[in-house]
Amino acid sequence: MIGVGDMVLLEPLSEDSFLENLRNRFDHNEIYTYIGSVVISMNPYRSLPIFTPDKVEEYRNRNFYELSPHIYALADEAYRSLRDQDKDQCILITGESGAGKTEASKLVMSYVAAVCGKGQEVNKVKEQLLQSNPVLEAFGNAKTVRNDNSSRFGKYMDIEFDFKGDPLGGVISNYLLEKSRVVKQPRGERNFHIFYQLLSGASEDTLKKLKLDRDFSKYNYLSLDSAAVNGLDDAANFRTVRNAMQIVGFMEDEVQSVLELVAAVLKLGNIEFKHESRCNGTDESRIKDKNDLKEMCELLGIEQSVLERAFSYRTVEAKMEKVSTTLNVAQAQTKARHKVMGVLDIYGFEIFEDNSFEQFIINYCNEKLQQIFIELTLREEQEEYVREGIEWTNIEYFNNAIICDLIENNQNGILAMLDEECLRPGTVTDETFLDKLNTICAEHQHFESRLSKNSKFLTDHSLPHNCFRIQHYAGKVLYRVEGFVDKNNDLLYRDLSQAMYKANHSLIKQLFPEGNPAKVNLKRPPTAGSQFKTSVGTLMKNLQTKNPNYIRCIKPNDKKASHIFTDSLVRHQVRYLGLMENVRVRRAGYAFRQAYEPCLERYKMLCKNTWPHWRGPAREGVEVLMADLQVPAEEFSYGRSKIFIRNPRTLFFLEERRRQC
Ligand code: ADP
Ligand code: MG
Repeated sequence: MIGVGDMVLLEPLSEDSFLENLRNRFDHNEIYTYIGSVVISMNPYRSLPIFTPDKVEEYRNRNFYELSPHIYALADEAYRSLRDQDKDQCILITGESGAGKTEASKLVMSYVAAVCGKGQEVNKVKEQLLQSNPVLEAFGNAKTVRNDNSSRFGKYMDIEFDFKGDPLGGVISNYLLEKSRVVKQPRGERNFHIFYQLLSGASEDTLKKLKLDRDFSKYNYLSLDSAAVNGLDDAANFRTVRNAMQIVGFMEDEVQSVLELVAAVLKLGNIEFKHESRCNGTDESRIKDKNDLKEMCELLGIEQSVLERAFSYRTVEAKMEKVSTTLNVAQAQTKARHKVMGVLDIYGFEIFEDNSFEQFIINYCNEKLQQIFIELTLREEQEEYVREGIEWTNIEYFNNAIICDLIENNQNGILAMLDEECLRPGTVTDETFLDKLNTICAEHQHFESRLSKNSKFLTDHSLPHNCFRIQHYAGKVLYRVEGFVDKNNDLLYRDLSQAMYKANHSLIKQLFPEGNPAKVNLKRPPTAGSQFKTSVGTLMKNLQTKNPNYIRCIKPNDKKASHIFTDSLVRHQVRYLGLMENVRVRRAGYAFRQAYEPCLERYKMLCKNTWPHWRGPAREGVEVLMADLQVPAEEFSYGRSKIFIRNPRTLFFLEERRRQC
């Protein structure tokens, strides 16, 4: 074993020793380390020979502590307790962009697919579940500065199993797709993969039908400087995606419709407007060259004049598109209750130099996840103590509930105030929103200072005039308020949705149900912020009913390079993932616990009364062992099925003795 496999057993425990242990293990290709049952995963940035079918076999049906730390051990534990103990599971994967979350989610899914039931029907479902990844990634991932295959959306997938533990299907929810990327990408980044895949990989015939040119440079939406990415074969990936779409269940004409839509978006990007001043003094926008517009309309079956009008005029009431959608991978409804394993792959905490609405929303989501982490970890600890008949000792920890409240409180939370501004008649700007925030949060701070209700809303005189600052659990974040109001409104003008609804193209029609003139709804659609709040709330409720399994991903360097461990970068992540806190909670009560049988098996060699053949119940054997080794009584407790060891030193003592034997 390189270093310490479980941070709970690290002695002495400090941030430095924690980092040193991670580094030491990373240098020896040990990318996984535990904190109790939590898996820390370091991105190796190269393929390691540890994800083979042999490895799957090795980890299958084995106990967590028997083998070196691995993501497969977590997947196995989760799957077995789902199948054998009928406990719904969720796998929560967090970490910053490029840390390896999506790869981890795929490893978990492929492990579960490898060990769960067999047979033709089951295999088909498994294939569908696995093949949903390339489809989602084509439309939702892009090359960014941080990650060549960065997911630009959060993903939660519930995999459903029958009573035998065979997979039945899955339901996928997406959160907060970065729509703005379609139109504009930061320097050095690309648009969503599908555009490049389609142009590189489609046959001449398909391109002709879609009125497309293979040349990226013909399209305004495809930035030129970074179109080709090292090690990314767009053409080959296009074939993978087409194939995956078929396996997932798209009919051929549906695939065609989707591609038409992709082509239409590229055409849309090429439409340019020019402003013309009219004699009455008003400005009017006109389309410069109508060829792209014409082709876009042909692809979507829209009458050109209708779309042209919609582009140029604007009626004031507005509708908005959905933030979260649900996709049924397989319809697998039976009457029996399903067992469910949820896999959450969602952006981690973001602290950039310039933080806007998106970071605010993402960080809010992470606060909620941290909240659930605290609740569930402690609850789980508590339940285990009760189950085992061990006295419960209270654990001091930082509860971030007040930060969640600052953001989501229905009366005076930041989101509620933003909504209020967005809905208020009169002149609304980002500045009026900020004023309101400062007034109300400061007021509360004043009146309720004893409760320190909003002490996480930081006001000090060093704050730039257009910013506010929040003390998140992971650190202080400065948010620039520009764009908050617009982004929260997220308006799509009704003229456009109505034009789209008129299309003679069933997919487009489906995407703009609000454009149906028969269903004109003048009620204000929910804002982006409140939609997100609702979907996060639903997600949290869903997660709370499940047994959590945590994978905390860490990015070792920001060069996308193997073998480099940048201390400051890792330290930062260890801090904001709250990993030290995590170890503390684990160690506060009993650092280590093990069922009597494996404990006796492992240590019986240390005592001649138990070695080699102990006769009698395992628990008594362990008692004999502890007495013989003269471990002080306050160092451990006997639970119903496990021994609980308070201090890591005791375990070291045992391990040391074992090594000397
Ligand atoms: P995230 O989803 O956290 O943004 P990804 O899972 O997309 O990050 O990982 C980024 C890149 O890092 C991957 O494209 C891959 O090249 C590399 N990577 C991540 N995890 C592993 C792993 N277990 N083995 C090898 N390479 C990995
Ligand atoms: Mg990802």
